[in-house]
Amino acid sequence: MGATTSLVLFSAGQDSTVCLAWALERFARVETIGFAYGQRHSVEMAQRPLIRAKLAEGFPTWAARLGEDHVLELAALSAMSDTALTRQAEFQMTATGLPNTFVPGRNLLFFTYAAALAYGRGIRTLVGGMCETDFSGYPDCRNDTLQTLAKAISLGMAAQFAIETPLMRTDKAGTWAMAQRLGGAPLVDLIVEHTHSCYTPERTTRRAWGYGCGRCPACALRQKGWEKWQIGKT
Ligand code: ZN
Repeated sequence: MGATTSLVLFSAGQDSTVCLAWALERFARVETIGFAYGQRHSVEMAQRPLIRAKLAEGFPTWAARLGEDHVLELAALSAMSDTALTRQAEFQMTATGLPNTFVPGRNLLFFTYAAALAYGRGIRTLVGGMCETDFSGYPDCRNDTLQTLAKAISLGMAAQFAIETPLMRTDKAGTWAMAQRLGGAPLVDLIVEHTHSCYTPERTTRRAWGYGCGRCPACALRQKGWEKWQIGKT
């Protein structure tokens, strides 16, 4: 096992879906983990199994590598945090300079839980779609944060864990380009059609870049990245 297997933090968003494809291209076996923590909507949780099924259907090589999916309930996280991601609230910047979608320590908890699960399964590589170039500047998306966390987990579990973040230095246009490189038009189409990045459950209007309200910061970022990628292609 070891470096031939990985566990991907998979939320059904564009970024984690590209990370899943990235891992399926590199590892002999790939498992996925998702966290239920009182998101404002359950669209993400509904899209996860669908995207896994579509990936397996469209990419036979990846189907052979795609292992189990794990869903952990983290109700304590929503009980503790009061953010726009876990309750009904409009997105806004707060006095700390961070958006109110910031759930303190979320990625630290996610990776620690993922490592605890991976430990017993002989998996030592954890993969996440965190990105430093992301608009929000979430401190738990920083490369320093996550590589330091990998060290702490390795020490604390007396096992050598690696945290891989293939999108760390990539912008959203680059993420679309990576999808194209990994799985061509079928993967790009799958991401447009089935991934969900919007802060709202809106999935009625399909745009060139996919579904969403078209107004929240996540939609704005996804659209901007799509348009930049389209221009770059021509
Ligand atoms: Zn939106």
